[in-house]
Amino acid sequence: MQDARNLPTEGTTPTDVRALTHGQLSEALADLGQPPFRVRQIEEWVWEKGATSFDDMTNLPKPLRARLSELFSLGGITQVARQVSEDGTRKYLLRYADGTDIECVGMPTGSKLAVCVSSQAGCAMGCAFCATGALGLTRSLDAVEIYDQVMHVRKDFGTRVTSVVLMGQGEPFMNYDASLAAMRKLNAPEGLGIGARHITISTCGIIPAIRRFSNEPEQFTLAVSLHSAVQRTRNALMPGVRKYSLQHLYEVMGEYVDRTGRRPTYEYALIRGVNDTEDELGALCAFCQDNLAHVNIIRLNEVKGSRFQPSSDARAGEFVRRLANVGVEATIRQPRGADIDAACGQLRQRTSKR
Ligand code: SAH
Ligand code: SF4
Repeated sequence: MQDARNLPTEGTTPTDVRALTHGQLSEALADLGQPPFRVRQIEEWVWEKGATSFDDMTNLPKPLRARLSELFSLGGITQVARQVSEDGTRKYLLRYADGTDIECVGMPTGSKLAVCVSSQAGCAMGCAFCATGALGLTRSLDAVEIYDQVMHVRKDFGTRVTSVVLMGQGEPFMNYDASLAAMRKLNAPEGLGIGARHITISTCGIIPAIRRFSNEPEQFTLAVSLHSAVQRTRNALMPGVRKYSLQHLYEVMGEYVDRTGRRPTYEYALIRGVNDTEDELGALCAFCQDNLAHVNIIRLNEVKGSRFQPSSDARAGEFVRRLANVGVEATIRQPRGADIDAACGQLRQRTSKR
C-alpha cells in the first residue's frame, strides 16, 4: 500500500488530514482498501466533532486509526495561555506546530458564543492605533489553522459557537483564499453549520479583494475599517491602504451593495482630536449617507506605548446622533475583555513582546 498513488510517501512531513479535499480523502481511503462510508465518518470526526487525534475515532477499526496516524497529522494547536476577563471573555494564546503564536477570543453573551479569530500571525498593514500592526507580519495562517481556533474555543466553553468574526490579528483580505475557505467550512453543514450572516470578515479596505468578495455567493457579512473619511487623516492612521483612495473605496462599496444587496458595516474607532472633530464627523456622514451602511463606533482601546487617546463617551453619543440625523444607523460597540487586553486592536502574536 505504501506506494499507492494517493498516499503520502514515507519520510515526508505528514499533511493534516483536513488539508485534503473530499475527493483526495476518498482516494486515499480507497488506496487503503477502505469502504466509501469511512470518508464520511472521518469528515464527521474532524469537522463536526473536532477530534484532535485519530484515536478519538472510535467507530474506525484500530488498525486503520494507527495507519492514518502514520500517514497524516491532525490539528497540532497548543494552548500556551488563557486569560478570563471579568465579563466572561476568554483570550487564548495558541501555538501551531511550527512555533507560530496567535491570539483569539471567545465572547459569551447569554446562550450565545461569538469567537474572534486571527487570519494571520501579526499584520503587515501597520495601522498606527493597532497593537498587531506594530509588530509586523510573521506569516499568514492556512484555512485549517483559522478553523482550529474556533474549534479550540468551542471545546473550552463546551457550547455551540453562534458567530465568528475575522477581527483578530491580521488582514484577512491579504490572506483571501485561506480566510474564505475557513469561512466556508464554518458555514458548511458538515462543518460547524454557522449561518453565513453570522460570519463576518473585517478588512482595512483592500479594494481588489472587496471586489472579489462581492462575487462570492454566500451571505457573509463584510465590515470595513474606515476610521476616517478624510484622506489625509486616513493616510496617517492606516498607511498600509494609502494607495487605495477613499473615493475608490466609496465606489467599490457602492458596487458591493448593488451586487449583493447586503449592508456593510464601517468600523470607526474614535481617537481624541484626530478623527472625532466636526470636519471628520461631516466627512463620515457624507461617506455613509447615500449608501447602505451601518456604522460601528468603537471606543479606542488602550495600546501600550501609543500616543492616541480615546474620545469621550459623550462624543461617541454625538456621532451616533448626527449619523442618525442623516439616516445612517450607528451603534457603539461594547468593548469586551479590555481588562485582559482582549479587545479590538490589542492582540499581539508573542508573549515575550508584551
Ligand atoms: N485587519 C482587519 C481585521 C482585524 S482588526 C481590519 O483592520 O479590519 C479588527 C478591528 O479592530 C478593526 O476595525 C481595527 O481597525 C480595530 N482596531 C485596531 N486597533 C484598535 C484599537 N486600538 N482600538 C479599537 N479598535 C481597534
Ligand atoms: Fe492590521 Fe487590522 Fe491592525 Fe490595521 S487594524 S494593523 S489591518 S490588524
